Amino acid sequence: MAAAAVARRRGRPQNPQTIVPPADVVDAVVLMDLKVNAKYIHTWITVDYETTRNWLVRHWLLANSATCRQCHRAMHLTKCEELKFDKDQWRCRDCSMIQSIRKGSFFANGHMPLMTMVEIIYWWTTDNSQVAIMLEVNVSHKTLIDWFMFCRDICVEWIFNHSVPIGGVDPVTGNPSLLKSTSRFSSK
Ligand SMILES: [Zn+2]
Repeated sequence: MAAAAVARRRGRPQNPQTIVPPADVVDAVVLMDLKVNAKYIHTWITVDYETTRNWLVRHWLLANSATCRQCHRAMHLTKCEELKFDKDQWRCRDCSMIQSIRKGSFFANGHMPLMTMVEIIYWWTTDNSQVAIMLEVNVSHKTLIDWFMFCRDICVEWIFNHSVPIGGVDPVTGNPSLLKSTSRFSSK
């Protein structure tokens, strides 16, 4: 509290409570129409840490704000040079609780830069060989396979959570024998 008051008196900007202005977060229509290729990835996303982080926030893949789980107040984005892969983290000014900007996201357990993870996910969606992709993203074969399996598991989980029965009943389990994804992509 005292430090914040001193900072305000000295005219220094306070650490923000959001990563990007809330109005910059895109709506669902933009998300559904997003078309990404390798050129787009390199031009608009994986330019540097901040560009990657901000793009992920604007497209709902990282949270734009955080609330302290101890005192339930808005946390502030704070620079941190000691982190291995990120350059900032959330910090509560009241109780000093810290939290990763990745918490609760697809990237939470990824032990590599956000930029690399974005590229792996993109290449996973293509038909390129694993050898070609390893050359593109410069990671080991084991890392690549681990991430490909993770991507696949996320998709499987999503499909099961967004499915409705379309067939009869399984005579053994009594469960619906067929499931249809509720996604608009399922018609293909
Ligand atoms: Zn707190």
